Amino acid sequence: MKRLSLLFLVMFVMGAGNGSHEVETNSVHMASAPGWVTRVKVDKVIDHIQMVLEWDIRRIEAYWHSDATEFAKGHGRGPLVMAYSLKDKNAIHLGPKVTDANFNAYFGHELVHIIAYQKYKQAIPKWLEEGLANYLAKTAKVDYHWLSSQAAPKDVRELTHPFDGSEDRLRYHYMASQALVEMIAAKCDLANLLRLSVGEKMDGYLDTYCEIRDLNAAFKAWVAKRGK
Ligand SMILES: [Zn+2]
Repeated sequence: MKRLSLLFLVMFVMGAGNGSHEVETNSVHMASAPGWVTRVKVDKVIDHIQMVLEWDIRRIEAYWHSDATEFAKGHGRGPLVMAYSLKDKNAIHLGPKVTDANFNAYFGHELVHIIAYQKYKQAIPKWLEEGLANYLAKTAKVDYHWLSSQAAPKDVRELTHPFDGSEDRLRYHYMASQALVEMIAAKCDLANLLRLSVGEKMDGYLDTYCEIRDLNAAFKAWVAKRGK
């Protein structure tokens, strides 16, 4: 009896020490989330992304990493990574820089990757997925002035993930890929475009449904106009 209460006391102190706790919803399990992560907060992000992508997520596991070195070892892509997904494992890994303030943006971004894999398979072109994740989760804002001052790639379809290179090139890739999605969303109904593309290639629909005949020319004009 005495031993049992001591064990409870130890568990209580440990739990209180780092503030971590278990969070479980219909779509996600987090074994040890920071204290500020609530079920309501998690579900709000999940509901939003599920609604726009019209999909019920098959249960994912989310891992929280409090140690930067250990987290970096897991993805191997340098210090800018905030979170990442292992799609075939239905897993999202959240790094130590994910906070109460930016959780929706980064968790939402990774959820788009998870659904892209669960629902759309190969239908969402690789060059579009990163921008789509940023766009839907409002992860970042496109600086069109800066974007228009940068050299565009010969073909925007080269902007596939994973991105690498200098910090400026990385920034360019993320921003250009998001600008592409903003352009497409302005020309046709994005939700319907995604709906049409389930199980098929989206490229054809960009032409027939969105009337974007030349993706590169359209992109250049879009960025130039907004960069002024
Ligand atoms: Zn991403």
